[in-house]
Amino acid sequence: MSDPVIEAAQRALDTDWLEAEDIAEAAAREALAPLKDIHRPVPVAQGPNCCDHCGDVWPCETGYHIYTDKELADE
Ligand SMILES: [Zn+2]
Repeated sequence: MSDPVIEAAQRALDTDWLEAEDIAEAAAREALAPLKDIHRPVPVAQGPNCCDHCGDVWPCETGYHIYTDKELADE
């Protein structure tokens, strides 16, 4: 049975980063990556972008929890 936490941690350890803080940050980013693949902005012909998963105006509630302020500002 797969464990997304262990898989994300392993992907983080596969990086060349050596500092524990960097590894922890990478693990958290890896854990959020699948959610970012699901909750992402899509353009709407007339009106603001919406979430591809929720259909809510972008950023959706989940988007606020998984994207950085900079990522949200750049989209
Ligand atoms: Zn969403």
